[in-house]
Amino acid sequence: MSLTLEKITALEAAALQLEPGVRDRQNYLEVTHQVAEEFLEAMASNGKAYISDEGDGSALTNSPFEESGAEIQQLWDLYDAQVNHPGINPASGGHLGYIPGGGVYTAALGDFMAAVTNRYAGIFYGNPGAVRMENMLLRWCADLIGYPASAAGVLLSGGSIANLTCIVTAREAKGLKCANIPKSVIYLTEQVHHCVTKALRIAGLSEAQLRFVPMDEGYRMDTAALRSLLKTDLEQGLSPFLVVASAGTTDAGAVDPIPEIAALRDEYGFWLHLDAAYGGFFALCEEGRRLLPGMDLSDSIVMDPHKGMFLPYGLGLALVKEGRHLAAAHQFSANYMQDADSGGIDPMEMSPAELGPELTKHFRGLRMWLPMKLHGLGAFRACVEEKLWLARYFWEGLPALPHVERGPWPDLSVVLYRFCPPNWEPNDFNQRLMAACHRDGRVFLSSTTIEGQVYLRLACLSFRTHRDTIDLCFAMLKENLDLVLGLKN
Ligand SMILES: *Cc1c(COP(=O)(O)O)cnc(C)c1O
Repeated sequence: MSLTLEKITALEAAALQLEPGVRDRQNYLEVTHQVAEEFLEAMASNGKAYISDEGDGSALTNSPFEESGAEIQQLWDLYDAQVNHPGINPASGGHLGYIPGGGVYTAALGDFMAAVTNRYAGIFYGNPGAVRMENMLLRWCADLIGYPASAAGVLLSGGSIANLTCIVTAREAKGLKCANIPKSVIYLTEQVHHCVTKALRIAGLSEAQLRFVPMDEGYRMDTAALRSLLKTDLEQGLSPFLVVASAGTTDAGAVDPIPEIAALRDEYGFWLHLDAAYGGFFALCEEGRRLLPGMDLSDSIVMDPHKGMFLPYGLGLALVKEGRHLAAAHQFSANYMQDADSGGIDPMEMSPAELGPELTKHFRGLRMWLPMKLHGLGAFRACVEEKLWLARYFWEGLPALPHVERGPWPDLSVVLYRFCPPNWEPNDFNQRLMAACHRDGRVFLSSTTIEGQVYLRLACLSFRTHRDTIDLCFAMLKENLDLVLGLKN
C-alpha cells in the first residue's frame, strides 16, 4: 500500500466515528428522549422557574474536551446538573420576567429534522422547497400585519439582529452617507429596546442626532411632542431620517400610536420602523388586532416568533414593506456563487441570502412550519389571546395585595406594579421584595426602573402560563411581602 493509501485508510477508520450506526443512533435518541421527558415532567410537577443556589455551571468548564468520546448519558447528566438546574428556566410557565415565550416541543422536532437533513435554505437553487417554506412563513407574517405583496422579509436569529437588518435597510433606502449622518435625526423613546441603540452603533449611525421623544402616562410616544421636534429639527437644517416606534415595549408592553406617527411620516418623509418583537404576534387574535392598529403603515417591522409564537430561542424576523429596499441593502455577487444565478429561478421566490446578512444559515423555518402545521393556527390564536386576558386578570387582582400601586392598564400582556408600604423607601422595599421572590423562585418575575422608580413587572407570554400560574404568582407575592414586611419569621 502506498503511504497515501495507508494514511487515508487509517484516517477513515477514525473519522467514521462521526457516523454512528443505526443501533447507536437509536440509543442516542432513547437516552435523549428520556432526559427530555424527565425535564418536562419535573417542570410540570411544581419545578421552580428560577434557581439561584445550585451552582454556576463551572463543572462544565472543568470538563475538558478529550481525544476520545464519552457516554451520552454522562454528558446529559453533566448538562442536567450544570445547565438545566441553575438560573432561569425559560421553558417554564412560571417564567413571567423579561419577555418569555416557552419553546413548544414540536419545534425541537423541526430543528432535529433540519439538522439531520441539513438542507440549505439560503439560496433558491440550492433547495427550492426550503426557500419556499421560509418565504411562505414570511408571507404569512406579512399578511398577518397587513403588508402588501411588495413586502419581503427574512428569518433571522432574533429581534436584535432583525432590528439591525431593518435599520441598515433604512440607512440604505434613505441614501445616508457618512457626510450626512451628523445631520440626520433619529427619534425614539426612552422605552425603546436597548438593542435598537446598539444596532444604530453597529450600523455606523452613532453620530446621527438622537431625539428621545417624551411619552404619555402609558409610556407611549407622545406624537404632539414628536411633531414639534420634527418641526424644530427641520428649521435647524437637520433631516428627520428615522422614527423607531414600538408595538409592545419590553418594560411596559406599551403600544406607540402608530397611525399618528405614520401620518407624520407622510408629512416629513422619515422611515418608520416598528419594533414589534414582543407585541407583533398578538395580531393573531381579534382582541390583539384591535390593540395594534396601523402596523401595516410602518416601513419595516420586526417580530420574534421565539416570543409570540412560543418557539425556542433563535427565531426573529424582519419584514420590509417595499421589499426591494431589503434586497438593495443585502444583495451581493461573488464569482464562487455563479451557479446560483443559472436556471430554475422562480421570480416570485427571493433567496434569503439576498435579503439578509447571512449566507450559510440555520434552516430555521422548519422549526416554525412544523408546529404551525401540526397544531393548527387556532391553538396559537387562543394562546396569545389567553395571555392578554391573564395579564388583565393579574392587573385586576393586584388590589387584593397590601400597599400595591398599579402601573397603567396593560396595553398587551406586561403589567407594571410596585408596593409602597408606609415607612419604607419604595425603591428599597421593591428591591428587597424582588430579591425575596428570586430566592423563592416558584415563579420568576423581573423588575425595571422607570423615571427613577423601581417597578416589578409581570410579563405573560409563555404558552405554558395559565390561570394557575397567575394564582401561584399572587400567593408567592403575598408570602414574600409578609416576609419582607417582617410579619413573618
Ligand atoms: C426581545 C425584544 C427585542 C430583542 O430581541 P431578541 O430576540 O432578544 O434579540 C427587541 N425589542 C423588543 C421590543 C423586545 O421585546
